[in-house]
Amino acid sequence: MERVRDVSELPKAHLHLHFTGSMRPATLLELADKYGVRLPEALTEALVGGEPPRLRATDERGWFRFQRLYDAARSCLREPEDIQRLVREAAEEDLRDGSGWLEIQVDPTSYAPRLGGLIPALEIILDAVDSAMRETGLGMRVLVAANRMKHPLDARTLARLAVRYRDRGVIGFGLSNDERRGMARDFDRAFAIAREGGLLSAPHGGELTGPASVRDCLDDLHAGRIGHGVRAAEDPRLLKRLADRQVTCEVCPASNVALGVYEKPEDVPLRTLFEAGVPLALGADDPLLFGSRLAAQYEIARHHHGFTDAELAELARQSVRGSVAPQDVQAKLLAGIDAWLSAPAA
Ligand SMILES: [Zn+2]
Repeated sequence: MERVRDVSELPKAHLHLHFTGSMRPATLLELADKYGVRLPEALTEALVGGEPPRLRATDERGWFRFQRLYDAARSCLREPEDIQRLVREAAEEDLRDGSGWLEIQVDPTSYAPRLGGLIPALEIILDAVDSAMRETGLGMRVLVAANRMKHPLDARTLARLAVRYRDRGVIGFGLSNDERRGMARDFDRAFAIAREGGLLSAPHGGELTGPASVRDCLDDLHAGRIGHGVRAAEDPRLLKRLADRQVTCEVCPASNVALGVYEKPEDVPLRTLFEAGVPLALGADDPLLFGSRLAAQYEIARHHHGFTDAELAELARQSVRGSVAPQDVQAKLLAGIDAWLSAPAA
């Protein structure tokens, strides 16, 4: 049997991880117990069984079910110490998977009611990120993400807040939830505020809807990075545009399969995107619900798409270059990637 290098030792950056979705299953069960929250059966089954629920989020009902599970999990995060724990454990899991840089995504609005309001919620989250960095040594930053199910004015408020906390670790502005609702254009003012304030524009697009949603992210929100973007594979001209501009797509293969965007791991168009020269950053999205973390995404590339170690190293480089990590951090990670590749397979 051919010997292979361990992808969990391949240095990489993690650019697509949602806050509640990063939680360890055991932690969620513990917190649910602590607060007497009855989790939906589909969720506990998934957590105990380790099998991600098949959610068929490609129809609106399926997406709604996914959101309900997510909301149930989020309702177990009630005190600053829960937030501290979540972020520290997310950092620990990332380090175990070879991540040297994590950009975690959060909509503080959804934590605000339990944490004393929007500003305290964001401050608690940013404090937790600071402590996690100190305790684990992992470099971390935060993307504040607006919810496209809410009013665009809420997104503007959030964008202003995100900009205000730029010197406290906020580096980007995102847009998540059901792409089929509303238009990206509705959020153009919020994104303009974020960009003018020096934040990276990194909305979700091209996951639940086709290439047009990726084009909208580029045209209307001036995206510097796309959350998912996989459906761009259906449009060669769009692929060329992403490649020419070097817009990184944060591709989350396990999530795509769990949500029914693609039937099987081998259907995720990783090769198409990679060979078109679109920079990719593999991400876990919501490991709590999808059952796999960062290194597992590289395993999918290896086992289902035949990526060689040299190609996996290239994917890792792309994740690092697509990050906002400072130059010295990037240089160190890139050197680590070369070292991983030049070491003999164990
Ligand atoms: Zn996402």
